Amino acid sequence: MIDIATNIAALTAKIQQVSAQSATWDREITLIAVSKKQPAAAITQAHAAGQNHFGENYVQEAVVKMAELTQKSLIWHFLGPIQSNKTKLIAEYFDWVHSVDRLKVAQRLSSQRCASLPPLNICLQVNIDQDPAKSGMTAADCMKIGLEVARLPNLRIRGLMVLPSQGQSDESLRASFRRGAGLFKELGDYLRQHAAGDDFDCLSMGMSGDFELAIAEGSNMVRVGTAIFGPRSS
Ligand SMILES: *Cc1c(COP(=O)(O)O)cnc(C)c1O
Repeated sequence: MIDIATNIAALTAKIQQVSAQSATWDREITLIAVSKKQPAAAITQAHAAGQNHFGENYVQEAVVKMAELTQKSLIWHFLGPIQSNKTKLIAEYFDWVHSVDRLKVAQRLSSQRCASLPPLNICLQVNIDQDPAKSGMTAADCMKIGLEVARLPNLRIRGLMVLPSQGQSDESLRASFRRGAGLFKELGDYLRQHAAGDDFDCLSMGMSGDFELAIAEGSNMVRVGTAIFGPRSS
Protein backbone atom coordinates (compact mmCIF):
# COMPACT_ATOMS: atom_id res chain seq x y z
CA MET A 1 0.00 0.00 0.00
CA ILE A 2 1.48 3.33 -1.08
CA ASP A 3 1.15 6.03 1.57
CA ILE A 4 1.34 9.25 -0.40
CA ALA A 5 1.27 11.57 2.64
CA THR A 6 4.13 9.68 4.30
CA ASN A 7 6.14 9.75 1.07
CA ILE A 8 5.69 13.50 0.72
CA ALA A 9 6.67 14.12 4.34
CA ALA A 10 9.81 11.97 3.99
CA LEU A 11 10.74 13.63 0.71
CA THR A 12 10.23 17.12 2.12
CA ALA A 13 12.47 16.30 5.07
CA LYS A 14 15.13 14.84 2.76
CA ILE A 15 15.01 17.88 0.47
CA GLN A 16 15.46 20.21 3.44
CA GLN A 17 18.34 18.15 4.77
CA VAL A 18 20.24 18.01 1.48
CA SER A 19 19.61 21.68 0.88
CA ALA A 20 20.88 22.65 4.33
CA GLN A 21 24.02 20.56 3.83
CA SER A 22 24.86 21.99 0.46
CA ALA A 23 23.47 25.51 0.47
CA THR A 24 25.87 28.36 0.41
CA TRP A 25 23.00 30.61 -0.51
CA ASP A 26 19.37 30.95 0.53
CA ARG A 27 17.16 28.71 -1.45
CA GLU A 28 13.56 27.65 -1.29
CA ILE A 29 13.08 24.38 -3.12
CA THR A 30 9.81 23.69 -4.89
CA LEU A 31 8.64 20.09 -5.03
CA ILE A 32 6.58 19.20 -8.09
CA ALA A 33 4.64 15.96 -7.66
CA VAL A 34 4.69 14.30 -11.08
CA SER A 35 1.24 12.74 -11.35
CA LYS A 36 1.30 11.46 -14.93
CA LYS A 37 -0.39 8.05 -15.25
CA GLN A 38 -1.77 8.44 -11.74
CA PRO A 39 -5.49 8.84 -11.00
CA ALA A 40 -7.11 12.06 -9.80
CA ALA A 41 -7.68 10.36 -6.43
CA ALA A 42 -3.91 10.17 -5.91
CA ILE A 43 -3.63 13.91 -6.63
CA THR A 44 -6.39 14.57 -4.09
CA GLN A 45 -4.45 12.61 -1.47
CA ALA A 46 -1.25 14.51 -2.20
CA HIS A 47 -3.09 17.83 -2.03
CA ALA A 48 -4.58 16.85 1.34
CA ALA A 49 -0.99 16.30 2.49
CA GLY A 50 -0.13 19.89 1.57
CA GLN A 51 1.14 19.43 -2.00
CA ASN A 52 0.13 22.15 -4.49
CA HIS A 53 2.43 21.75 -7.50
CA PHE A 54 1.69 18.89 -9.91
CA GLY A 55 3.45 17.82 -13.09
CA GLU A 56 1.89 16.12 -16.11
CA ASN A 57 3.30 14.86 -19.44
CA TYR A 58 0.21 14.09 -21.52
CA VAL A 59 -2.17 16.94 -22.33
CA GLN A 60 -5.35 14.92 -22.85
CA GLU A 61 -4.86 12.87 -19.71
CA ALA A 62 -4.12 16.00 -17.69
CA VAL A 63 -7.18 17.91 -18.90
CA VAL A 64 -9.48 15.05 -17.90
CA LYS A 65 -8.00 14.97 -14.39
CA MET A 66 -8.12 18.76 -14.05
CA ALA A 67 -11.85 18.64 -14.76
CA GLU A 68 -12.24 16.33 -11.75
CA LEU A 69 -10.16 18.60 -9.52
CA THR A 70 -11.44 22.09 -10.27
CA GLN A 71 -12.44 22.93 -6.71
CA LYS A 72 -8.81 22.69 -5.54
CA SER A 73 -6.15 25.37 -5.92
CA LEU A 74 -3.56 23.33 -7.79
CA ILE A 75 -0.61 24.62 -9.83
CA TRP A 76 -0.09 22.64 -13.01
CA HIS A 77 3.29 22.10 -14.70
CA PHE A 78 3.56 20.63 -18.18
CA LEU A 79 6.68 18.45 -18.55
CA GLY A 80 6.17 16.31 -21.65
CA PRO A 81 7.27 16.58 -25.26
CA ILE A 82 5.25 19.25 -27.09
CA GLN A 83 3.71 18.66 -30.50
CA SER A 84 2.73 21.90 -32.19
CA ASN A 85 -0.94 20.92 -32.37
CA LYS A 86 -1.06 20.59 -28.56
CA THR A 87 0.15 24.07 -27.65
CA LYS A 88 -3.35 25.55 -27.55
CA LEU A 89 -4.57 23.22 -24.81
CA ILE A 90 -1.32 23.61 -22.88
CA ALA A 91 -1.58 27.42 -23.06
CA GLU A 92 -5.15 27.23 -21.88
CA TYR A 93 -4.84 24.79 -18.97
CA PHE A 94 -1.35 24.96 -17.49
CA ASP A 95 0.46 27.46 -15.24
CA TRP A 96 3.98 26.33 -16.16
CA VAL A 97 5.65 24.67 -19.15
CA HIS A 98 9.11 23.14 -18.55
CA SER A 99 9.57 21.42 -21.89
CA VAL A 100 9.94 24.31 -24.33
CA ASP A 101 12.57 23.01 -26.73
CA ARG A 102 12.27 25.39 -29.69
CA LEU A 103 11.36 28.99 -30.39
CA LYS A 104 8.34 28.05 -32.49
CA VAL A 105 6.69 26.32 -29.51
CA ALA A 106 7.26 29.40 -27.33
CA GLN A 107 5.76 31.64 -30.03
CA ARG A 108 2.68 29.45 -30.31
CA LEU A 109 2.22 29.30 -26.52
CA SER A 110 2.54 33.08 -26.35
CA SER A 111 -0.02 33.75 -29.08
CA GLN A 112 -2.42 31.15 -27.67
CA ARG A 113 -2.19 32.21 -24.03
CA CYS A 114 -5.26 34.22 -23.20
CA ALA A 115 -4.19 37.74 -22.21
CA SER A 116 -6.72 37.70 -19.36
CA LEU A 117 -4.82 34.84 -17.69
CA PRO A 118 -1.55 35.42 -15.81
CA PRO A 119 1.49 34.96 -18.07
CA LEU A 120 2.48 31.34 -18.68
CA ASN A 121 5.68 30.45 -16.78
CA ILE A 122 8.29 28.98 -19.12
CA CYS A 123 11.44 26.92 -18.64
CA LEU A 124 13.66 26.05 -21.57
CA GLN A 125 14.42 22.33 -21.77
CA VAL A 126 18.12 21.65 -22.03
CA ASN A 127 19.63 18.42 -23.33
CA ILE A 128 22.69 19.02 -21.20
CA ASP A 129 24.62 15.92 -22.34
CA GLN A 130 23.69 16.37 -26.01
CA ASP A 131 22.13 12.92 -25.84
CA PRO A 132 20.63 11.94 -29.23
CA ALA A 133 17.97 9.90 -27.35
CA LYS A 134 16.67 13.01 -25.56
CA SER A 135 14.86 16.09 -26.76
CA GLY A 136 15.77 19.55 -25.60
CA MET A 137 18.04 22.32 -26.74
CA THR A 138 21.78 22.56 -26.67
CA ALA A 139 23.31 25.10 -24.31
CA ALA A 140 24.22 27.22 -27.34
CA ASP A 141 20.60 27.22 -28.58
CA CYS A 142 19.40 28.29 -25.14
CA MET A 143 21.72 31.28 -25.22
CA LYS A 144 20.59 32.05 -28.74
CA ILE A 145 16.80 32.01 -28.25
CA GLY A 146 16.50 32.84 -24.53
CA LEU A 147 16.18 36.57 -25.10
CA GLU A 148 13.59 36.15 -27.86
CA VAL A 149 11.49 33.94 -25.58
CA ALA A 150 11.86 36.46 -22.76
CA ARG A 151 10.42 39.18 -24.98
CA LEU A 152 7.31 37.29 -26.07
CA PRO A 153 4.06 38.61 -24.61
CA ASN A 154 1.87 36.42 -22.34
CA LEU A 155 4.91 34.38 -21.26
CA ARG A 156 7.34 34.79 -18.38
CA ILE A 157 10.67 33.06 -18.82
CA ARG A 158 11.44 31.47 -15.44
CA GLY A 159 14.44 29.23 -15.96
CA LEU A 160 15.72 25.94 -17.30
CA MET A 161 14.67 22.32 -17.09
CA VAL A 162 17.87 20.30 -17.22
CA LEU A 163 17.64 16.65 -18.30
CA PRO A 164 20.80 14.56 -18.03
CA SER A 165 21.35 11.25 -19.84
CA GLN A 166 20.19 8.11 -18.06
CA GLY A 167 22.56 5.48 -16.73
CA GLN A 168 25.48 7.72 -15.83
CA SER A 169 27.64 7.28 -12.75
CA ASP A 170 26.90 9.62 -9.86
CA GLU A 171 30.05 11.53 -10.65
CA SER A 172 29.18 12.23 -14.27
CA LEU A 173 25.56 12.96 -13.33
CA ARG A 174 26.86 15.50 -10.87
CA ALA A 175 29.00 17.03 -13.62
CA SER A 176 25.93 17.27 -15.89
CA PHE A 177 23.94 19.03 -13.17
CA ARG A 178 26.87 21.36 -12.56
CA ARG A 179 26.94 22.31 -16.25
CA GLY A 180 23.18 22.89 -16.04
CA ALA A 181 23.66 25.24 -13.09
CA GLY A 182 26.44 27.04 -14.96
CA LEU A 183 24.21 27.57 -18.00
CA PHE A 184 21.38 28.78 -15.73
CA LYS A 185 23.66 31.45 -14.30
CA GLU A 186 25.08 32.41 -17.68
CA LEU A 187 21.68 32.81 -19.36
CA GLY A 188 20.24 34.60 -16.33
CA ASP A 189 23.11 37.10 -16.37
CA TYR A 190 22.72 37.61 -20.11
CA LEU A 191 18.97 38.21 -19.82
CA ARG A 192 19.43 40.67 -16.96
CA GLN A 193 22.02 42.59 -18.98
CA HIS A 194 19.25 43.04 -21.52
CA ALA A 195 16.65 43.95 -18.88
CA ALA A 196 14.73 40.73 -19.55
CA GLY A 197 15.66 38.31 -16.76
CA ASP A 198 13.92 39.65 -13.66
CA ASP A 199 11.86 36.48 -13.22
CA PHE A 200 14.54 34.02 -14.34
CA ASP A 201 14.86 32.21 -11.02
CA CYS A 202 14.07 28.50 -11.44
CA LEU A 203 16.45 25.65 -12.05
CA SER A 204 14.20 22.64 -12.61
CA MET A 205 16.55 19.72 -12.11
CA GLY A 206 16.28 16.35 -10.38
CA MET A 207 13.79 13.45 -10.28
CA SER A 208 13.11 10.50 -7.91
CA GLY A 209 16.48 8.86 -8.55
CA ASP A 210 18.74 11.88 -8.56
CA PHE A 211 17.16 14.86 -6.78
CA GLU A 212 19.77 14.82 -4.01
CA LEU A 213 22.62 15.27 -6.48
CA ALA A 214 20.65 17.92 -8.36
CA ILE A 215 19.99 19.93 -5.19
CA ALA A 216 23.62 19.64 -4.17
CA GLU A 217 24.49 21.25 -7.51
CA GLY A 218 22.01 24.12 -7.19
CA SER A 219 18.55 22.95 -8.26
CA ASN A 220 15.62 24.80 -6.69
CA MET A 221 12.81 22.84 -8.33
CA VAL A 222 12.61 19.04 -8.32
CA ARG A 223 10.12 16.91 -10.26
CA VAL A 224 9.34 13.71 -8.38
CA GLY A 225 6.85 11.04 -9.43
CA THR A 226 7.68 7.48 -8.40
CA ALA A 227 9.01 8.38 -4.95
CA ILE A 228 5.65 9.96 -4.11
CA PHE A 229 3.05 7.89 -5.95
CA GLY A 230 4.84 4.58 -6.52
CA PRO A 231 5.14 2.90 -9.92
CA ARG A 232 3.05 4.25 -12.80
CA SER A 233 0.20 2.19 -14.20
CA SER A 234 1.70 1.80 -17.68
C1 LIG B 1 8.20 11.41 -15.48
C2 LIG B 1 9.06 12.57 -15.29
C3 LIG B 1 9.56 12.93 -14.02
C4 LIG B 1 9.34 12.09 -12.77
O1 LIG B 1 10.09 10.91 -12.83
P1 LIG B 1 10.25 9.94 -11.55
O2 LIG B 1 11.46 9.14 -11.86
O3 LIG B 1 9.01 9.12 -11.48
O4 LIG B 1 10.43 10.80 -10.36
C5 LIG B 1 10.29 14.10 -13.92
N1 LIG B 1 10.55 14.87 -14.99
C6 LIG B 1 10.09 14.56 -16.22
C7 LIG B 1 10.42 15.47 -17.36
C8 LIG B 1 9.35 13.40 -16.41
O5 LIG B 1 8.94 13.09 -17.66
